[in-house]
Amino acid sequence: MGRKVCVVGAGVNGLCTAVLIQELLPNVSVTIVADKTTTDTLSDGAAGLFRVSDSTRGPSPESIKTWTRDSYLYYKSIATSPQSDDAGIKEISGYILAEEAENITKNLLLEDILPIWRKLDEDELKPFPGNWKYGSTFKTVLVECRRFLPWMTKKFQTNGGKILKQRINSLDELFGECDVVVNCSGFGAKYLCNDSRVVPIRGQVIKVKAPWIKEFVYGDYDTYICPGFDFVTLGGTRQFDSYDTKMNTYNSKEIWERCCKLVPNLKNAKIEYEFVGLRPYRDEIRVELEYLTRKNSTKFPVVHNYGHGGYGVSLAYGCAKNTAQLVKACLVNTDLQSKL
Ligand SMILES: Cc1cc2nc3c(=O)[nH]c(=O)nc-3n(C[C@H](O)[C@H](O)[C@H](O)COP(=O)(O)OP(=O)(O)OC[C@H]3O[C@@H](n4cnc5c(N)ncnc54)[C@H](O)[C@@H]3O)c2cc1C
Repeated sequence: MGRKVCVVGAGVNGLCTAVLIQELLPNVSVTIVADKTTTDTLSDGAAGLFRVSDSTRGPSPESIKTWTRDSYLYYKSIATSPQSDDAGIKEISGYILAEEAENITKNLLLEDILPIWRKLDEDELKPFPGNWKYGSTFKTVLVECRRFLPWMTKKFQTNGGKILKQRINSLDELFGECDVVVNCSGFGAKYLCNDSRVVPIRGQVIKVKAPWIKEFVYGDYDTYICPGFDFVTLGGTRQFDSYDTKMNTYNSKEIWERCCKLVPNLKNAKIEYEFVGLRPYRDEIRVELEYLTRKNSTKFPVVHNYGHGGYGVSLAYGCAKNTAQLVKACLVNTDLQSKL
């Protein structure tokens, strides 16, 4: 009988993982189970800039480097192909500025991977309104989920994948349906895994039409202007342990003011909509195989891929590749055991 895998989650991590399992294991049938898809997911609201903090932790320092490098190389290959527009992935350059802490403008992880990461000199800082003491410019990629999620969904369905729009209350609801459950439930993992290490970091942004903005600019206090394909994202907030998913008018006002101060010609931009989401932060991103105990005391394999915080779009491809490898190892192992 054919092998079956259920992936919980249709955000950027669930979709990438489901497609990479299909590509690594073409004979395995993959179903996505998710209560939210495309524009209803958190992933849809992300600015989508490929930028990973060098403080990000995973199972090992090597895993973070591998996820970051694998993701960048994949996104860059799409950005420089005819699929760029459809997939919503492009190369982009811009600036990161700081008034007080030079450290913010450095990144030991990305300086090694991105083609350009260079310190700005005093003259180069002058055009930016404010008292900027430090700055860097870098070239990276941008993944706009408004386009990327439908593109990945199509890929998944063309490969024979099925999507069940359904909420689950416990991972064991799926144990009878498949051979391995893959958990890409983002913030939902806090409840599905009873994982207190998952903490929300509330983010609020404004999406505007401003096609004249071609480069990103990041400043202090999570101020950023990040041009995607269809909108420019103006940010933001980074509120630790806040569960508030309502729009906050004080936040809207100060985001608008901070962004217009940094890039004054934004004042003419047309506001399209605002977005609030809870980044699924975990002190260590969890990509791991776990055997859960069923009611009849037998063990059931679950491969986790969650807890990406503010870097889930950036790391999605690399984490998905690692997760697909764990699913493969797990299926090979169960095949061997059944032959004993
Ligand atoms: C304002 C903001 C800006 C951001 N900007 C960036 C950026 O520039 N770059 C970057 O890399 N990252 C950015 N992020 C972070 C990024 O959005 C997240 O890390 C990423 O979207 C997480 O993806 P995910 O697939 O794990 O989760 P989600 O997109 O939240 O998907 C989770 C999926 O699991 C499903 N699910 C959960 N629980 C259940 C359940 N019980 N039953 C059924 N289905 C369930 C949901 O329905 C959904 O389909 C930003 C975040 C915010 C809030």
